[in-house]
Amino acid sequence: MVMGTLRQETELAIVGAGPGGYVAALRAADLGKEVVLIDERGDPGGVCLHEGCIPSKTLIHAAELLEAAREAKKLGITFGAPSIDLGGLRKFSRNVVAGLSRGVRGLLKKRGVELVKGRARFDGPNSLSIEGGGGVDFRHAIIASGSRPVRLPSLTTDGLWTSREALTLPESPDRLVVVGGGYIGLELSLVYSGLGSKVTLVEFSPRFLPGVDPDLVDVMVKSATRSIDGLMLESSVKEIAQEGKTYQVRVEHEAGEQTLEADRVLMAVGRQPNTDDLGLDNLGLSLDDNGRIPVDEDCRTAVPHIFAVGDVTPGPMLAHKASREAKVAAEVLAGQKSAFDNRAIPAVVYTSPEIAWAGLTEVEAKEKKIDVTVGRFPLKALGRARTLGQTEGLVKVLCRPGDGLVLGVGMVGPQASELIAEGTLALEMGATLEDLTTTIHPHPTLSEAIMEAAEVAAGSAVHAA
Ligand code: NAD
Repeated sequence: MVMGTLRQETELAIVGAGPGGYVAALRAADLGKEVVLIDERGDPGGVCLHEGCIPSKTLIHAAELLEAAREAKKLGITFGAPSIDLGGLRKFSRNVVAGLSRGVRGLLKKRGVELVKGRARFDGPNSLSIEGGGGVDFRHAIIASGSRPVRLPSLTTDGLWTSREALTLPESPDRLVVVGGGYIGLELSLVYSGLGSKVTLVEFSPRFLPGVDPDLVDVMVKSATRSIDGLMLESSVKEIAQEGKTYQVRVEHEAGEQTLEADRVLMAVGRQPNTDDLGLDNLGLSLDDNGRIPVDEDCRTAVPHIFAVGDVTPGPMLAHKASREAKVAAEVLAGQKSAFDNRAIPAVVYTSPEIAWAGLTEVEAKEKKIDVTVGRFPLKALGRARTLGQTEGLVKVLCRPGDGLVLGVGMVGPQASELIAEGTLALEMGATLEDLTTTIHPHPTLSEAIMEAAEVAAGSAVHAA
């Protein structure tokens, strides 16, 4: 790794080594490009690997293990009260992150990608300066600088956690208030309540996960009420004050005002793109109303030799979207025919049970006045779900009336994060209900629920009552 002290020239400079930037670097190098990859964190992997998806899924797995041990009672197996060694869990999570980051570094090295540590800023159409000295002159650049948690100026007391701090597992506070009931708020509320904290989750909207299909969210919320102490909707946090080691969180809702006492407060009110300190003016690039960089199907910006991928571009802030865009940008740069023309970007919320969907949802269909046929299959009617003792959930398949073209798949239940891949593939391949119903699904598995929901939509369900 080069520390940003010298000025160097390269064919392709990439800003940001997350799942957008490092994937673009690997693909471009494989296609013969000379690549310099710049990231202010010494290790590659970005927020996703170091302080997002990977540590959060490690902690979620720990919380699920604890829940599984409690639930085992149903099967006649009783464990003693668990003893949780936060140090041990922290070490496991750190090792997972370090191992994966080492792996990415090895892949970059093998392909001759030069990794430069430093904060990069465009100082001209073909040059980047690196904070602390040095710079890179390039023919092409890919902006993959990602996003960071939104900090509300009105709520800025010392010591507030964002997902970044919460995922380092500094402690398991007795009382935790979580502000924001979106992806991060829900996932981390479940982690900390699983570890023994008394959690109150405060959401501004009338629903948790606003915008996500209520049929799926309702099942998860019903289950979450058993583990999360307080679930508050239509509640807005107005003030957070610190008194000694305690936080006073003033919440306003329809019924009036309430002050919650907490030992920690986690802010999970959204993420914002890292586009404000990149010197984009020096490139002549403008941002959209959300501070994102508009791109075309090639992932090319309005400045033809500059590309952008991931959270800095419009669309969901998801690692897998960034990685797909990264491959497209690298391939287009290398002269290949490639385009981000994906029909579906799957989304997963790693709650308990998990929620996942791809393509059109029923809510969107109603909003856009798209006529759809919907097949629903409840997990309580599925053999494999019963053997697991996890029957809360359902699968929905949405299709076009007439030819049965699959338009969307949504689910809530165990392993939804894995099962959604079948729905996403069906959407990409332009599959119809017939494709789903005539494909033999192994029995007994959770995947049969997709086939069963498709049969319901097709009106040929043998297992429907
Ligand atoms: P989010 O947009 O999902 O949710 C933020 C929530 O905070 C919203 O529901 C909003 O109504 C609420 N809110 C805002 N201000 C509030 C206030 N003052 N009081 C109470 N509630 C308030 O944002 P997030 O959970 O921070 O996640 C950010 C992004 O990160 C997500 O959009 C997602 O793209 C990504 N992410 C994905 C995953 C995953 O794929 N499983 C996990 C974590 C994060």
